[in-house]
Amino acid sequence: MSNLAASPEFEAVQASVAHSVLLNPRLVELTPRSGISIKRTLPHREIRLIGAWCFVDHYGPTNQSGAMKVAAHPHTGLQTVTWLFSGEVEHRDSVGSVQQIKPGELNIMTAGFGISHSELSSNSTDDLHGIQLWIALPDQDRFIKPSFNHHDDLPISQSENTRIQVFIGSFSGLTAPTKNYSPLLGAEILFKKQAEESFDLNNKFEHGFLLVEGQAKINGQEVPVGSLLYLSTGNNHVELECTKYSRLILLGGEPLLEPLIMWWNFIARTHDEIVEMREDWENDAVRFTAFWDQIGEKIPAPQLPNLKLRPRN
Ligand code: MN
Repeated sequence: MSNLAASPEFEAVQASVAHSVLLNPRLVELTPRSGISIKRTLPHREIRLIGAWCFVDHYGPTNQSGAMKVAAHPHTGLQTVTWLFSGEVEHRDSVGSVQQIKPGELNIMTAGFGISHSELSSNSTDDLHGIQLWIALPDQDRFIKPSFNHHDDLPISQSENTRIQVFIGSFSGLTAPTKNYSPLLGAEILFKKQAEESFDLNNKFEHGFLLVEGQAKINGQEVPVGSLLYLSTGNNHVELECTKYSRLILLGGEPLLEPLIMWWNFIARTHDEIVEMREDWENDAVRFTAFWDQIGEKIPAPQLPNLKLRPRN
């Protein structure tokens, strides 16, 4: 676990010209009880963040019934984003939210100082497919009051070749109403037929293209399903060559140059903050108010490693 620094050659490239890095996913269990494995592309050994996006999990498609059952667990210092391609999930949390989500809708939970939540796919869901993303809150906002928002009002544009929906920030002439705390972009691009399309990019942003399904070449580079192509700042546009029904998630943002410590479900800046957050969860502190759900359990925090946690980005 010590070999996390990028190679010197890589840093030299990063400092000089626009470049790309293909991030292949690793398979992880969502929780011991969730029953599905997920493909994680962020954080990655080579790339820790894309803007403030710090965590990308892609799960499904699965044909198991009751595919997702994630008992109550805490978060701090981040926003969570739930975006589905198929299926339906119920979200409950410690600020009193009870919300069903379907494809085309956004759940965004701002953990701030502290929140706990659970997720349960509906009984009728036999084809769960979606992504779970985290956004690191910048230092000045990371202890804000927790909140939850659901959006079923996100902008969509249709062209002959593509259908685009933006869930955070602005892209391709569309702007989402979503509240976030640093310059950021999140969008879904669906190809309605095989086509080549060029899109303008904000050159102050770094970007990531996750191929959810289909076949895609991005700036001429083939990207396997489940992998994420990282593009550094300095790109003014991107060329996509995709087969019919290819689906991509585009993430972008201004580089977040803050030393984050990500441990379990917490984001902090110091080891001692993580210790305190963990103890608050284990001791049912007011920070993570209890709430009722059908699952009726909480996920215990893992043991802290026997070393001092340090920022990795
Ligand atoms: Mn969570």
